[in-house]
This record gives sequence, structure tokens and C-alpha cells, in this order.
Amino acid sequence: MGKVYLTGAGPGDIELLTLKALRVVKEADVIIYDRLANPEILKMAKDGCSFVYVGKEDGKHIIPQDEINEIIYQNALKHNTVVRLKGGDPFVFGRGGEEGAYLYERNIQFEIIPGITSAISAPAYAGIPVTHRGVAVSFRVVTGHESPNKETSQIPWENFKTDDTIIFLMGLHNLDKITKKLMEVGKPANYPCAVISKGTTKDQQVVIGTLEDIVQKADGIPTPALIVVGQVVKLREQLNWFNS
Ligand code: SAH
Repeated sequence: MGKVYLTGAGPGDIELLTLKALRVVKEADVIIYDRLANPEILKMAKDGCSFVYVGKEDGKHIIPQDEINEIIYQNALKHNTVVRLKGGDPFVFGRGGEEGAYLYERNIQFEIIPGITSAISAPAYAGIPVTHRGVAVSFRVVTGHESPNKETSQIPWENFKTDDTIIFLMGLHNLDKITKKLMEVGKPANYPCAVISKGTTKDQQVVIGTLEDIVQKADGIPTPALIVVGQVVKLREQLNWFNS
């Protein structure tokens, strides 16, 4: 029986792959990868390594998660070194925990290799620090997949009145509802907001606006994209190093 490495591929810029991830990619007999993992990484695998694509679009799985779990497990029965390569960090909305638990129940050895999450690095490449002295003392990474109008929402919207930075992943299709909800709980209409598309890659696009106008400004921007809400967005005026 083999060992599975639940591995973060980083946000897009290939140089943001960790040395540990690179080592296991080079050793892998099979790499099971996502849509968000930079395909350039696969070129670094050894000859004879096989590749299994289990991609998903925007949180909508093409292959259901339980099937992905089983695919990983079946590969671990056949191969020595199985790399499960996932965009960003495997435990930040990456369902790496579910995959690890599935392997644990079947006595398959695994390791977690954290990755640089898009939640922090895409803002960084956009010149937006997620915390900043005197501006934001904390940041939250929140799923944007859930409709804010859901009766049973687990998201503590009422807590979002402060100036702490809020980063929504998987939220582009709900941008309208998210911004409206934030205004509803008391954030001003002119509150700073950014949408970052394809962060850390050469195709990165950054749209800066307010809760009121970001929907219109970000219209048509491609995925993957994340939303940053907070006063830290203004710091881009001084810190925009990547697109300049
Ligand atoms: N595990 C990943 C997140 C998976 S959820 C991580 O740690 O980054 C997928 C969501 O991540 C997308 O809907 C998008 O909101 C965000 N995302 C991933 N890569 C991105 C990128 N390069 N630029 C902007 N957002 C990105």
C-alpha cells in the first residue's frame, strides 16, 4: 500500500509551490489534480508518472467528492507515492480534511503538505495586506458559496460590522447578494471592496470599488476570483507592486 500526500499547489504563480510539494511531485507515481492546480507543475513529474484529473468548476464538483475520495484510495492500493494536488492550501476550502479522514478509515498513510492559500496571496499580489497595524487587527476567510439569504446560514453576518478584513472565496456568483447583505448589517455603501481574478498569475486582474459599485465594476471578470472587503483595500494605492 502506498502513501498519499495531500498537497497544496499554491495559488497560481508556480514559484509559490513549496520545496516539499516539489519533492513529492517529482517522486509521484500518480498525481490526482484539480482545475486550480497550475498544470505547469505536472511537467515536473518523473517519466512514467500518471495523471488523474478530478477538476471542479467554482465549487461545483464535476466528480462528486465521495468519488474523488475513492479514486485517491484506489490509487493508494496500486501505487507507492500518490500526490493529491490541490489549488492553494488543501485545508482552506479544499476538502483535504474529508480526503484525509477517508484514508484514515481505510488505514492508508497520508501526509498533509500545506500550500500558500489564494486567500492571502492573491490580495498580496494585488497590494492588499490582509492585516495592517491600525487598520485591521484580524482577517476572516469566508465561503461565498452559500447564499447570504439562506435561512440557516452558518456565516455570522452580524459580526462583520467591524473593520476586520473579510475575504470571500467561491463568491463571485454571489457578489451581488454578499455586498447587499453586508450593507444590510450596517456596513456603509462606500466601504472599500476588491475583486481579484486569477491572482498571482500573469492574467491577474484587480477591480477596486465599494460595496455599492463593485458588482457593476467587476462584471464579466473571469474565475477563479475572490472578494476582499476592508479598509486594507485602500493600501493598494501605495503597495501595488505586481501590476505596476
Ligand atoms: N484551497 C484553495 C481554495 C479553494 S476554493 C486555496 O487555498 O486557495 C476555490 C476558490 O478559491 C475560488 O472560487 C476563488 O475564490 C479562490 N481562488 C483560488 N485560486 C485563486 C486565484 N489564483 N485568484 C483568485 N482567487 C482564487
